[in-house]
Amino acid sequence: SRTHKIAIIPGDGIGRDVIPAAQQVLDRAAALCGFTLAYHPFDWSCETYHATGRMMPDDGITQLADHDAIFLGAVGYPGVPDHISLWGLLIPIRREFDQYVNLRPVRLLPGVPCPLANKKPGDIDFWVVRENVEGEYSQIGGRMFAGTNREFVEQTAIFTRFGTDRILRFAFDLATKLGRNHVTSATKSNGIFHSMPFWDERFAAIAATYPETRIDQYHIDILAARFVMSPERFDVVVGSNLFGDILSDLGPGVTGTIAVAPSANLNPERKFPSMFEPVHGSAPDIAGKGIANPVGAIWAGAMMLEHLGETEAAALVMHAIESALADPATPRTPDLGGVGTMSALNAAIVEQCGKQK
Ligand code: NAD
Ligand code: MN
Repeated sequence: SRTHKIAIIPGDGIGRDVIPAAQQVLDRAAALCGFTLAYHPFDWSCETYHATGRMMPDDGITQLADHDAIFLGAVGYPGVPDHISLWGLLIPIRREFDQYVNLRPVRLLPGVPCPLANKKPGDIDFWVVRENVEGEYSQIGGRMFAGTNREFVEQTAIFTRFGTDRILRFAFDLATKLGRNHVTSATKSNGIFHSMPFWDERFAAIAATYPETRIDQYHIDILAARFVMSPERFDVVVGSNLFGDILSDLGPGVTGTIAVAPSANLNPERKFPSMFEPVHGSAPDIAGKGIANPVGAIWAGAMMLEHLGETEAAALVMHAIESALADPATPRTPDLGGVGTMSALNAAIVEQCGKQK
């Protein structure tokens, strides 16, 4: 039968709780749909950093290259500065594998309390497309006169035409594929003098090649407000690396909890492996307590199955998540207002996989 080679990086904190839980669900779906997931674990984390001074070995990227996908928990832990864990592992993987799309669904699930009044599942359902390899996240710049009163820093943002056009095109293609021909652009061309007018120019140029698609654009500040005031109006929202980062946590925030939200780092051309991870971090406050919500990791796993071409299994996992959460009898983790454990919620989702098939 078909086999997919998956690199597993549980990472730190609850990454080590939710990844094995999600693997149980994915394996159940794989067995029901007649394929196999062959896992190859990589024990790279802040502990590796303490032991070796590096988040991953020198040839880490080469070790990962030979896989169909990467499934990651979370990296970062107290004791290691966040910029080390980020630039030592996540950012090199995103960049070396040209995962230039960060794709995050924003969807209100059944049984998840929504902080907005009078919203029901189905009311909030859109996608955030974040540029994932350039823009504001750059190491270009520097610091001078450190420690003196003339001290200054300069931080350069890079927007290439190639990089801007391809993320915009991905957003338009996604809108077309979803049959929801509407793309919203996040901008700030009234304040950011060079990069954002350029972004708007490219948005208009790419939009012109998708005449059936309705477009709008908002400055990032009012767009953030609209996410809260009228999330129903969005279908696909595209933004630069920094704006997309902020919107793609705000989105899950308005749907209740970041613990259930997934994220895909895609190389759409499939020249390199793509990486799938929950949106949440390592949650040191609850790590190892057995009460982490596994849904974000499981949903990320469903996106991975979709990317691997296992459409039936991906849909099965999504339906299993939704029916488990919709059932009042399902044990809920504390972030969902319950007193249940991770394993109990996970077992309910595994069981639903069997019922859905
Ligand atoms: P966090 O997402 O780890 O936790 C924020 C809050 O949400 C905590 O109270 C936590 O208990 C809760 N929470 C998160 N996930 C949950 C889950 N699955 N179930 C139940 N509750 C959950 O964010 P943070 O505290 O800002 O960051 C902690 C560490 O994680 C930092 O080192 C940070 O750099 C790292 N981090 C990593 C990633 C990543 O690997 N992509 C993303 C965000 C943060
Ligand atoms: Mn983020």
